[in-house]
Amino acid sequence: MSATETSLRVVVRARPMNSRETREGARKCVEYYENTGQIVINDSATFAFDSVFPDTVDQETVYEKTAFPLLDRIFAGFNATVLAYGQTGSGKTYTMGTEDNDGTDEMRRGIIPRLVNALFQRIMQTQVPESFKVTVSMYEVYGDNVYDLLRPDKVKLNVHGDEKNCTIVNLTAVPVIDLKGALKQLATGCHYRTKAETAMNAMSSRSHAVFTLFVEKTATPDCDSAFSAKLQLVDLAGSERLKKTEAEGNRMKEGININAGLLILSQVIAALATKQKHIPYRNSVITRVLQDSLGGNSYTVFLACISPADTNSQETLNTLRYADRAK
Ligand code: ADP
Ligand code: MG
Repeated sequence: MSATETSLRVVVRARPMNSRETREGARKCVEYYENTGQIVINDSATFAFDSVFPDTVDQETVYEKTAFPLLDRIFAGFNATVLAYGQTGSGKTYTMGTEDNDGTDEMRRGIIPRLVNALFQRIMQTQVPESFKVTVSMYEVYGDNVYDLLRPDKVKLNVHGDEKNCTIVNLTAVPVIDLKGALKQLATGCHYRTKAETAMNAMSSRSHAVFTLFVEKTATPDCDSAFSAKLQLVDLAGSERLKKTEAEGNRMKEGININAGLLILSQVIAALATKQKHIPYRNSVITRVLQDSLGGNSYTVFLACISPADTNSQETLNTLRYADRAK
């Protein structure tokens, strides 16, 4: 199969009911049909995706059915992206493992540590592991700005580029040689992210966090050819609509900015899915910086995270509609 035929997969994952929802007497309003990938909400609206993962499905299964297959693509020299979308509290960070940086709790371990672990295992199994070089970066997109999360001053970075190519200028890229080294960088990125959060009003729910692995292979005399591939793991901003009381002043501006980014992202994914000529990458910062990892020669998994509770059904419906448009 060619790259374009299977390049986008859209999946939905529900988290278990949380204690607040249980306390409020919430009921489950979502039904799952794993065989067909269908999901029914409020006994009325039905959607179909490439996979659905009910609240009983564990981290390992979600990883194996979503991110793990991307490893083959990476080793074939393609770029790959995993995007986690959903309202705040729906399980994006848990599923991605963005804050899971000691990797000690096997059961709770998310996609990033699992994928990085498998990447290094696979490199070690090759004939010349030394011919691989892996570097990591981590950055945050907040409104129209990009911040380096691997530097203490959380420096603001410029994005340069044209229709074809786009780079984040001076983004820190740290060479790593094993899982431990990669998780250390993830911990640093999370640390700088949350530190700013207290100062800037729970900024993390309204910013996109991107963890990037850049894999380079040099040719070896034996025959192996060279390649390079980029893997971007994206914990998107919360998709919820701002409540009226919050939607004032600065917050409103932020909300508009971020929702605009998510809106353009859906337009980009939809344009790619329907093979349109013009893809509106340039209309937002998040799509500009992900340009070479969405479409073209790259593979994307769009992971929509939802709550099963009827008290969140409006946001869940919005998420399913969004994911449905991305197919
Ligand atoms: P988000 O990043 O979308 O705001 P989180 O990933 O932080 O949401 O999840 C919110 C809470 O729910 C966290 O305490 C997380 O540990 C828990 N959680 C999310 N998904 C699951 C799951 N599938 N199983 C168990 N706990 C979960
Ligand atoms: Mg989160």
